[in-house]
Amino acid sequence: MKRFLKYFRRKWASYSFRKVVNVNLNEPVITFTFDDAPISAFVEGGNILAKYGVGGTFYISLSLMNDVDPTTRFTPQHIKTALARHNEIGCHTFGHTELYTVSFGKGMVDIIKNQETLETIAPGITLDNFSYPFGSQTRPIKKFVSSRFRSARGIEEGINLDQTDLYNLKTVKLYEQRYSLDFIYAKIDEAVACNGWLIFYTHDVQEHPSEWGCSPAYFEAVVKKCAEMNIKILTVNEALNQIERGL
Ligand SMILES: [Zn+2]
Repeated sequence: MKRFLKYFRRKWASYSFRKVVNVNLNEPVITFTFDDAPISAFVEGGNILAKYGVGGTFYISLSLMNDVDPTTRFTPQHIKTALARHNEIGCHTFGHTELYTVSFGKGMVDIIKNQETLETIAPGITLDNFSYPFGSQTRPIKKFVSSRFRSARGIEEGINLDQTDLYNLKTVKLYEQRYSLDFIYAKIDEAVACNGWLIFYTHDVQEHPSEWGCSPAYFEAVVKKCAEMNIKILTVNEALNQIERGL
């Protein structure tokens, strides 16, 4: 599908269906999220978060589990370890499907399959929050997602503040090749100035990262900065609890 068509569908989805919540916090909140997720996100990213006594949200696609490349894909043990360390497991789609390219029915089945498969790995754990693979947000999928999840994260850049669409949460990418640490620190300052909810997202956390990831040093620098500034670091679910309670 042509790029402008994808853009149009995403924009149409974001304007034609919304569930707005008022993000009006007494202090800024920062959330670290990982998409897919590569083993390095669980290990390197997870270790760094644990070192600072905090957790993140891993939006996983379970078709990627036990994939042929053992250095990139997570295993059930990574999920269990992440949960034991007070992280949150969130939902991508099972097949990491770009939802623009399949029918609504197929997209829906793929999302349900991811939720149901997780239940067999970690019984009792629910996937409460969603992120659209490739940001592929369509109106019917967005509506469906709103009936099954508390929130959904998109890929549009920004800080969540005031009238916020719960099913198109804004984010700032931790893509090291594209964004300098100074750029990221400026975003943190912006969130602090407005008491906003800043959601970071990345993929791999490893030396020589992909263009969609970052190195452990870069990731730790961001977490350390938040810790030094005494900013509250919460998972998506915890942040939503905070917003609901108006804290
Ligand atoms: Zn993804």
